[in-house]
Formats: sequence, C-alpha cells, structure tokens
Amino acid sequence: MRESKNSLPERAVQLRAHHLLCTEFFKGYGYSDDFSVNMSEVISMLNSGDPEVTLTAGADVICRGCPHNKDGICDSQEKVRRYDLAVLELLGVYEGNTAVWSELKKSARERIIAAGKLSQICGDCQWFHICGK
Ligand code: SF4
Repeated sequence: MRESKNSLPERAVQLRAHHLLCTEFFKGYGYSDDFSVNMSEVISMLNSGDPEVTLTAGADVICRGCPHNKDGICDSQEKVRRYDLAVLELLGVYEGNTAVWSELKKSARERIIAAGKLSQICGDCQWFHICGK
C-alpha cells in the first residue's frame, strides 16, 4: 500500500498563513483532482496529529499538489502573498512563527472569521463565495 506523503512529519509543517482559512472551508473540490486529494490528506493529517505548524508566505504542503504551483512559486504570487501577510498581521505573528495547529486554527477563527474580517483578506478569491457558508 502506498504511504501517504502527508503522514505526520518529524518537523513542523510549513503552511501558508492564508491556508488557515482555506482549510476551514474546504468542501472537497479545488483546482484539480490532485489538488483536492492532497488538500484532504493535509487537513486530515493536521486534524488528527495536531502537529506544530510554521506559518509561511511561500509554497507549502497544500501548494505541493496545485497546478498553479510553478516550480515552487504560485502563479498568483502577488495576490496570495497579500492574503498571507494580512492573516499574519491579524493574528499578530510574523512569517516563521511556529505553533500547534489547533492553537493557530483557534486564533484564526476568533480573530478573522468570527470577527467578520474574512472578506477584507480574500474577498477577491475565486472561491470566496463558498467560504463562510
Ligand atoms: S500554488 Fe497558489 S493557488 Fe495553488 S494552493 Fe498554493 S497559493 Fe493556492
């Protein structure tokens, strides 16, 4: 049986800061089948293992399965980096901050989603219409 590439890692998981939000609203579809499978596996790994996560503003474990990832750079890099920096600012942390997954999720839920600030971060994302529902 194939071992999942998203089994619990020994080091902190690298995660784009704005993917704290995408993982909250993921409904099983995305940019491609590979993307959706990888996203599901990553979310499962994070929720089951509650590992340490390092927030980044660059390619991460979710970008790994995405057709928009061009040699490690998102083809919408300017936009997604803007999302990442906005999330970092609202969470009051810097790129490279490491914390346990469940703590980061709690912080994102409280400071961004419950605070009604989702649209100011990623209101121009093509998936925004399905988020928060
Ligand atoms: S490559 Fe870009 S579009 Fe794809 S998951 Fe990463 S940030 Fe999102």
